[in-house]
Amino acid sequence: MGLLEGRKALIFGVANDHSIAWGIARALHGEGAIVGFSSVESLIERRVRPLAESIGATFIEPCDVQSDEQIRALMEKWKATNGKIDILVHALAFARKEDLDGSFVDTSRDGFALALDVSAYSLVALAREARPLLHPGSAILTLTYYGAEKVVANYNVMGVAKAALEASVRYLAADLGPEGVRVNAISAGPVRTLAAAGITGFKKLYGSFAEVAPLRSNISPEDVGKSAVWLCSDLSSAVTGAVIHVDGGFNVMGVPLGEG
Ligand code: NAD
Repeated sequence: MGLLEGRKALIFGVANDHSIAWGIARALHGEGAIVGFSSVESLIERRVRPLAESIGATFIEPCDVQSDEQIRALMEKWKATNGKIDILVHALAFARKEDLDGSFVDTSRDGFALALDVSAYSLVALAREARPLLHPGSAILTLTYYGAEKVVANYNVMGVAKAALEASVRYLAADLGPEGVRVNAISAGPVRTLAAAGITGFKKLYGSFAEVAPLRSNISPEDVGKSAVWLCSDLSSAVTGAVIHVDGGFNVMGVPLGEG
């Protein structure tokens, strides 16, 4: 019997089979969870539906997380078809390409607001609208990156958005904890995805990661999926408000040891 047998998981952020959200979906499904999907409308039919149906999903609905109305309507649909939410996964982010290049100081007011809205506020909005469907034992999980903690070249406004996201995880954990709902984040090492392709210099960052990370290898969506199972199951029953690094230990390094 799987660790998540019969649990119902709603997953936001699958764009294609390279998506971290897809790695999480497969891992949760592998432990017996019933998985439903939401993504932006343009990706649903061509990209998300075939993947979702390959693991038996029937709930596959569009939602732009910038719209409270769309989020509300989506939660209503989930309630009508699935009832409660045991697991909510938020694995999405967006910033304009021009804001993931050059100097952070040049970030426009619009670009800043957009990145923060899609990448950080959306977690708050999803948690709020999902709240009536959450229950003691439910888990919320989001995805963040080291650029929230330290300056990473070209990550720029997304680093600021991830810092806001991580703080939101703590405040949401405090709000929802008395209701028995846990809220955590996984800070993943670099993974080659559509979103990552938008970051100038990502290839270089990805390429040199394994030289620095104590475990000497890049991480995969499967690695993230395994930690997601832990954070979404009763195995982590006393863990909330945490940011768990799934990065081969990269974040503990100050000055790399070097050869010899
Ligand atoms: P991805 O491109 O596969 O997924 C990003 C998703 O965000 C897409 O499905 C996209 O549709 C969705 N999205 C963007 N704007 C949206 C909106 N307005 N409404 C609804 N959905 C929207 O890339 P990914 O790398 O798997 O990203 C998933 C999460 O993981 C993101 O939060 C990202 O910042 C985080 N993360 C990625 C890496 C990495 O190296 N790839 C590392 C650490 C954290």
